[in-house]
Amino acid sequence: MIMSNDLSQEGVLVKQGPEKAENSGSLSQFAIDNAADGAVWLRRDGTHYYVNKAICRLLGYSREELMSLTVFDVNPQFTAENWAEHWEALKQAGSFTNEGRLQGKDGRVALVEISANFLVFAGEEYNCASIRDVTGRKHAEELLHRSGMLLRIAGQTARIGGWAVDLAEGRILWSDEVCAIHELPKGTAPSLEEGIGFYAPEWRDRLRAVFDACARHGTPYDEEMEIITAKGRRIWVRSMGEALRDDCGTITQVRGAFQDITEQKRVARTLDQSRRRFRELADAMPMIVWTADADGELDFANRALDDYTGITEADLPRSGWLQAVHPDDKDSCLAAWGESVRTGKEYMVEFRVRNRANGKYRWHLVRAVPIRDEAGTIVKWYGTATDIHDQKTTEEELSRLASRLANTLESITDAFYTLDQNWRFTYINKEAERIFGRDRTDMLGKVIWEEFPELHETRIYKEYQRAVDEVRTVQFEERSPSFGVWLEIHGYPSEEGLAVYFRDISGRKQAEEDIQFFALYDPLTRLPNRRLLQDRLQQALVAATRNRLNGAVLFLDLDNFKTLNDTLGHDEGDLLLQQVADRLTIGLRESDTVGRFGGDEFVVILGELDASAEQAALKAERIGKTILAALNQPYRLGGYQRQITPSIGITMFGQQGDSANELMKRADFAMYQAKAGGRNTLRMFDPAMQATVNRRVELEADMREGLQRREFVPYYQPQVDDTGRLTGAEALARWQHAERGLISPAEFIPVAEETGLILPLGRHMLEAVCTQLAVWADRPDTADLSLAVNISARQFHHPDFVDGVLEVIDQTGANPERLKLELTESLLLEDVEDAITKMTALKDCGVRFSLDDFGTGYSSLYYLKRLPLEKLKIDQRFVRDVLTDAIDAAIVRTVIVLAQSLGLGVIAEGVETVQVRDFLGHHGCAHYQGFLFGYPEPIEQFEARMRDRQGDADLLMRPGE
Ligand code: C2E
Ligand code: CA
Ligand code: CA
Repeated sequence: MIMSNDLSQEGVLVKQGPEKAENSGSLSQFAIDNAADGAVWLRRDGTHYYVNKAICRLLGYSREELMSLTVFDVNPQFTAENWAEHWEALKQAGSFTNEGRLQGKDGRVALVEISANFLVFAGEEYNCASIRDVTGRKHAEELLHRSGMLLRIAGQTARIGGWAVDLAEGRILWSDEVCAIHELPKGTAPSLEEGIGFYAPEWRDRLRAVFDACARHGTPYDEEMEIITAKGRRIWVRSMGEALRDDCGTITQVRGAFQDITEQKRVARTLDQSRRRFRELADAMPMIVWTADADGELDFANRALDDYTGITEADLPRSGWLQAVHPDDKDSCLAAWGESVRTGKEYMVEFRVRNRANGKYRWHLVRAVPIRDEAGTIVKWYGTATDIHDQKTTEEELSRLASRLANTLESITDAFYTLDQNWRFTYINKEAERIFGRDRTDMLGKVIWEEFPELHETRIYKEYQRAVDEVRTVQFEERSPSFGVWLEIHGYPSEEGLAVYFRDISGRKQAEEDIQFFALYDPLTRLPNRRLLQDRLQQALVAATRNRLNGAVLFLDLDNFKTLNDTLGHDEGDLLLQQVADRLTIGLRESDTVGRFGGDEFVVILGELDASAEQAALKAERIGKTILAALNQPYRLGGYQRQITPSIGITMFGQQGDSANELMKRADFAMYQAKAGGRNTLRMFDPAMQATVNRRVELEADMREGLQRREFVPYYQPQVDDTGRLTGAEALARWQHAERGLISPAEFIPVAEETGLILPLGRHMLEAVCTQLAVWADRPDTADLSLAVNISARQFHHPDFVDGVLEVIDQTGANPERLKLELTESLLLEDVEDAITKMTALKDCGVRFSLDDFGTGYSSLYYLKRLPLEKLKIDQRFVRDVLTDAIDAAIVRTVIVLAQSLGLGVIAEGVETVQVRDFLGHHGCAHYQGFLFGYPEPIEQFEARMRDRQGDADLLMRPGE
């Protein structure tokens, strides 16, 4: 519009044209060129004829650039078609103004107001347009529009409105919202006094005061007060006022905002109340109650925080509470928090917190719960911290004490366990577990008497009961039946039950036993030592006197032991002594004692050998020889065979009342004699005994020779029945010694038994008898006779006995039915079953058996019944005095009745008189043997006498008469 004015006023420019105009330097030209609005001259084809600086600036082109462009390049509104129409319309109207959009070099669109004027200059048609940039104005308009709308919405939402008072008029102008707040219709415009009248009476003076100050001095105000609405509701409002002045500075108007803050007030009050209540509640808590932000920084805490840590509310939120945590606990504290951050779960941790006021640490238990937003991110922490210091320290002290106690109990070498009131195990330490040999966890809670029922029988049970019943400590030693060890036990009763402390004292007990043992025994050979030997000998002496039996003491000394010991070394020497001890003990009876007297000296005490001193001496000598032989066997020492021999001295004891010491001296003396006699031998102390022994030794040697020289012969003693008829004979051995003449079996049979020579002798007798039977069998007068032969125990028990007998029968061709074997009672009783087997085997072949010396043994009827016997032979000891001794007579009668009742035959031996024979016959014994009928005689005499007696049964054979 300015431009068009200028153009119309300043025709020069137009006439001169733009190029000229630029250079002309005229004021008009300058003004147009530098005008704030853009100026553009367009030709009919749309090309530019002129552009000024402003339009170039607006579109961002240089003048040259814009001059080379067409209207179509900058105004997208135009095309070739509508440009022509537009040109024609402008030509018709001359000018018009409209809004449009121009596109700048950078593509930005500018909102413009275009005033176009049609102009013909120098025959050419031009569209001269003045262009004003309205982009900013348009924007502001739009903003204004929008903000007005927003303000309205905001006013309604916030219940805020505006008002104004024209001081001259004294009327108040209320916005719609202010009317609504007063619960009045829109457009209500009260007077100043009316407006003030809506305020609650107590607020009115205040309002007047602030309003006056504002109206008079321009002091703005902002007050919260109560009004009473048209409907009589009392509400809170916020009223703000400011003064408005005219150009001369006079206050003409007061205006302001007016807001209903009732809800706000209520919310604030409620909030305030709950906050206060929460605070009071939190403060009343005995523990620290706190909240923290996502970083764990405290943002609230109750008063307890101050109480316990000295951190005040003023220190929050940068409280530095972690600084108050004990350095040793910081890690665990942060770890717990970190863990909770990771897992999102609440946590609990104990740590020490320092009180700033006194610098002391106290244990706190902190619990915290993370609070998350919808996305799950932790935004806050709520927590508490409880002072557990006293509890914790007591607890710690207790647990330290308990663990110290437990460690002590575990580590002590003594066993310990506790039982409750019901005898149940409540604690078992390691050592007790070891002794029990069982897993202690298996035993806890179990009743001791059920776990170890064997204890019921022991002192342990009684003592425990006593400890509990009498509430007193018990202490005792007892061998545990459960573990086979000796225990020293202490029981301490308490209200909980019984605490038992015990230890394995087997070692000590063993030591005690060892001490006892080695006081009496030799540690090396474990044989009785000198002291015990002396005791034992004393006892043996007493027993011998009491039992009227004889015994012997053997004193042994190893020959040349010292030399051997020195050459072999003492270890080997010890081994040798041990082996000697072993050999000595083998084969000894229980009543005997072997002991080590010292060094290489041993003593053997043989108690109760025999009633006869002679026999006892013989037995002692025989045992001595056995020992000699045993010790002569080679010894294995250090991989070599060694030989050592003993010298043995023997002394006998019996009824003489000898002292133990005296006996030892004698045995020792005899031992030296044995040494003097060339070693490896034995000697009797008593010369008479020595003689007996010597004789016996000679006898044995003689017997061997005698057997070879067939000096042993059977003598036959007749056996008759009650008619005096000869039924057979008993073969009795006789030794026809080359020098000594006839020797009685009483002398040689025992020696033969002892030496085993009885076996060849017995065999010899059996052969002689069977040969005789075979001879007799061929003769009519002797064919019916039977022969009895005595069988000794050793013969009978020999495994080959039965076979031997059968073999002899077979070899000789004797009729087994004529052979009778005489066995003694004691022999059969040794092994009844074996006896029955052997006897039965022979009986099946026709051989018969008599029980010799019947009445002297102790056969029970039971055995008698089972043995396959033919006859009982009443011993001559009973027969001899049968007429004068009532007891013997009774025995004889009983034996006869017994034999009859068992269906056995009976024969009496030792019948020397007719009266005895008659007595026996009267009582039912029909078979006899004795001097009345004949002495034992060699076969020739026996047969001769038999022939003499033929046909004269009454004739009694009385040799020597
Ligand atoms: P025995 O078997 O009891 O033999 C009977 C013994 O009494 C015989 O003594 C005999 O001579 C003797 N005697 C017989 N009638 C009378 C009499 O009327 N009055 C007296 N006072 N004595 C009479 P002998 O022959 O000295 O034999 C003694 C013992 O020797 C036998 O006792 C027997 O046990 C044993 N004996 C004899 N020969 C042998 C034998 O060959 N082998 C075995 N193992 N022992 C035999
Ligand atoms: Ca006999
Ligand atoms: Ca007899």
